[in-house]
Amino acid sequence: MPETKKDIRALTREQLRHFFVSKGDKAFRGNQVYEWLWQKSAYSFDGMTNLSKETRQMLEDYFVINHIRVDQMQRSNDGTIKNAVQLHDDLVVESVLIPTDTRTTACVSSQVGCSLDCKFCATARLKRMRNLNPDEIYDQVVAIDNQSKLYFDRPLSNIVFMGMGEPLMNYNNVLKAIDKITSPDGLGMSPKRITVSTSGVPKMIKKMADEGVKFNLAVSLHSAIDELRTSIMPFNATFPLSDLRESLQYWYQKTKKRITYEYVVWEGINDTQKDVDALVKFCRFAPSKVNLIEYNPIDDGEFSQASEEAIQRYVHTLEKNHITVTIRRSRGKDIDAACGQLANKG
Ligand code: SAH
Repeated sequence: MPETKKDIRALTREQLRHFFVSKGDKAFRGNQVYEWLWQKSAYSFDGMTNLSKETRQMLEDYFVINHIRVDQMQRSNDGTIKNAVQLHDDLVVESVLIPTDTRTTACVSSQVGCSLDCKFCATARLKRMRNLNPDEIYDQVVAIDNQSKLYFDRPLSNIVFMGMGEPLMNYNNVLKAIDKITSPDGLGMSPKRITVSTSGVPKMIKKMADEGVKFNLAVSLHSAIDELRTSIMPFNATFPLSDLRESLQYWYQKTKKRITYEYVVWEGINDTQKDVDALVKFCRFAPSKVNLIEYNPIDDGEFSQASEEAIQRYVHTLEKNHITVTIRRSRGKDIDAACGQLANKG
């Protein structure tokens, strides 16, 4: 017997089949266990009822099943559900279920904390503690899928990587999780219903394009003027807009997928015509649309939502230039579940 037990969920189906053969058992046991782990989300070996007691004990001797636990669930007046998710090492991330009339969207985390330092985001105040592994990301989706069935009588329809963390700084694990989410072995969801949101890491955007991914890309832009963007999103100094732009052109060439720019308009920060014009110019480089997000205040109030007039100026100018623009109203604000509020109030 091994001294330290391995997380069984780190094993591929093939490795599990191998394990059983190496123990003198049949390879198909590996398939059975794989199904328990990934299709039936079993959290204990004891629950794997089509295995003999001896087999279950053997698994217990060699492995653990590391899984997340939804520790606290809060429901907003608008139906939004925020989960505090406890990881096997007791760290906590958050994930959110956002219902509308026609769909249920899961907003999931990719890291514990975040290494970027966006001035308007609550998660930025937690330093990055670690990356989530693929099954911790997958489990958040499964948990929300179950909540969607339970509370709204329908399965999850969409996933956005807009929770805590920067997905492209945990690229491999995010992609592995998406593989499982989209695979018939896992949840079998269409990649077209998944959106990865990034602050913009040019090298990784190119890598994704090269790998021919089928999910959607959203970029948190917030300003198309370098100096200003660096002041609110300091990593822009390392990845300036020219590099970002080039990577997005590359993305479009390779994937033919339109890019969504997420954009908050703040009073006295990016609410002038000059800001709008810079955005219009940026949008010309690759087919894109703009999603104007309502600002969700985080406690100290250095930033505030721009006036309706300023927002309409954006809408008007973008539309005049034939750029699609939508306004996204915030959800779950009363429970700090809205964009950028995760991690607010501890
Ligand atoms: N790191 C990734 C994903 C997490 S943030 C990214 O930057 O895209 C998800 C979205 O919420 C981003 O568009 C981010 O800019 C936005 N956001 C962060 N704080 C916000 C706040 N206080 N109000 C509104 N949106 C916010």
